Amino acid sequence: METEFEAFFGKQQRPTRSINNIRKVGDILDIEPRTVNELIYPQDVHVFRLHINLVEHPMSVWGCISFHNRAKGIYKGGIRISSDLDIWDTIELSRLMTLKTSLVDLEFGGAKTGLRFDMSKAYKLFGKEEYDIKFESYVKKEIIKEFAHHYHDILSKKQYVPAPDINTGPAEMAWIYGETHEPSSVTGKPEGVPGWLPGRKEATGYGVYIVVKNLIEKMGQKPGETTVAIQGFGNVGSNSAFFLDKLGVKIVAVEDKDGSVYNEEGIDVTSLTKYVTSNGTVKGFCDPAPDFFGVEADIMVPAAINDAIDAEAAKKIKAKYVVEGANFPTTPEAMEIFEKKGIEVIPDILANAGGVIASSVEYANPVSTQKMDKEEVFAMIERKISKNLNLALDIAKERSISLDLACTFLSAERLITTMQNKGWI
Ligand code: NAD
Repeated sequence: METEFEAFFGKQQRPTRSINNIRKVGDILDIEPRTVNELIYPQDVHVFRLHINLVEHPMSVWGCISFHNRAKGIYKGGIRISSDLDIWDTIELSRLMTLKTSLVDLEFGGAKTGLRFDMSKAYKLFGKEEYDIKFESYVKKEIIKEFAHHYHDILSKKQYVPAPDINTGPAEMAWIYGETHEPSSVTGKPEGVPGWLPGRKEATGYGVYIVVKNLIEKMGQKPGETTVAIQGFGNVGSNSAFFLDKLGVKIVAVEDKDGSVYNEEGIDVTSLTKYVTSNGTVKGFCDPAPDFFGVEADIMVPAAINDAIDAEAAKKIKAKYVVEGANFPTTPEAMEIFEKKGIEVIPDILANAGGVIASSVEYANPVSTQKMDKEEVFAMIERKISKNLNLALDIAKERSISLDLACTFLSAERLITTMQNKGWI
């Protein structure tokens, strides 16, 4: 039987969209293979094991930090806790961070932390059956505190500055601050913790909303005539839904890990949010979607997990656009199907960049006596996402390539210039 260690290492690098795209950009620009490899491979990968003790129950948790590229600045990237994560996923996520920070023109590099942990095992260990948010927070606190302790030096010196990702949020970031006592050693901190930033919590969802708003204008539709389906109702999905609902867009379907909800007249997002806060899931709020990916919606927003849209799901999707709130939610096979069906994908490295844009402000201004307000943070997200979306659309048109590839093109070109100027290549 495969051990947890073997499962964490994974068999081998799977073909990924970011690698395909970097190679294609290499062909278009006639870049030498050594430079293409510099863009693909991480600079450093740490694999580690954390020892935690949950009320007399000792446990170990495998983890990995992929330090992908720091040509443009300190290593930046979120911490993910997930039961099926391996080092290759973590490396792919770190590569996307490098491409993302360059695409929205931030002086950050790219990194990611993956912690492989199955929360359902903790529930079983303590004989718990009901969803218990306090229990989950306690377990995550033990894991994150141990992680922060293990990497005290790297974090305190701000060589790697983490942020939230799946299954981590402001509370977990506060535990990291509690270890380093350095306001700019971690972003995504909750209100009141030194260096916190108004608007950071909502920032990724706000960026997704900006992309959708641009697309609605492009389609020449009114927001009230536009329908959206969202997969995932965590930080990214729920905040995207909040801003889109405020604009008047109809959210017709939402799916999370336990089930889905559907209303062709538009779901009441405020009531759904309250329901999820007390129940931990959208399931049961109203009728489920007959077939989530098959619903009629102008725009599909996958904002949950990677590889959620495979070939089978892609065949069902009827939307004009797919806006990737999540990281690599669309598989390479699904991308081919979308290309044939004429469905445009707004890639993760642009669509979910709102969080890291806000993080750049949180990192830079932690001890300022004058905090930026929410509106200023949101205005910066809108400026950076809209500007680079338009630049990528121009490249796509000029070179007759997909928007997905054009985003990698724009990002890689900037990275190559930086690496050349630094004498790396
Ligand atoms: P989260 O943990 O807050 O929420 C995840 C959501 O996905 C939950 O609603 C969960 O129920 C749902 N989900 C999990 N498995 C599912 C499945 N099999 N089918 C359907 N739904 C499922 O996570 P998040 O922070 O919102 O992150 C979501 C995605 O966005 C991830 O890919 C993450 O890397 C990406 N992202 C997050 C941020 C951020 O600031 N949090 C920034 C950039 C990108």
